[in-house]
Amino acid sequence: MMLWRVCANSLPTGDKFGSGSETLCPLCKSDTETPWHLFVKCPFASALWFASPLPLRVNALPCVDMVDFISDLCNNTNPEMRTSILICAAATFETIWNYKNQVIHSPSDIQPCINRALFSVFNRFHEMTPKDSSCSRMATPSIEPPPSLSIPTV
Ligand SMILES: [Zn+2]
Repeated sequence: MMLWRVCANSLPTGDKFGSGSETLCPLCKSDTETPWHLFVKCPFASALWFASPLPLRVNALPCVDMVDFISDLCNNTNPEMRTSILICAAATFETIWNYKNQVIHSPSDIQPCINRALFSVFNRFHEMTPKDSSCSRMATPSIEPPPSLSIPTV
């Protein structure tokens, strides 16, 4: 569902509903919050992709929009790898979206924390990966969220 919402440009990003400074990406505050920026081009997103279960240098991909991005990721892959890539994309998109909402709605100023977000991506990736898949046997990095922070389950 998250993949569809991102690719269909149906999420309420700042470019659609914000005005003035509300249109800025809440994670980096350096560009307009569009799906393309938030999920791929944002420095926070690129760092997350690079450290994700299927590490990617997203800025090296020649794509220009979300549909191209997913298409490029899945090009020339076998069905099992394609499934893992789509699960990784869904986990990464979901984490970025939830994390962005936490930053927006937090009563205090929370700073984007890549380790906490990465912990969520790996958890969701393993939850969504079929248990008999070769990717389900991938090692989870020894990343622990900071002890003072809890990660809400969705
Ligand atoms: Zn950004």
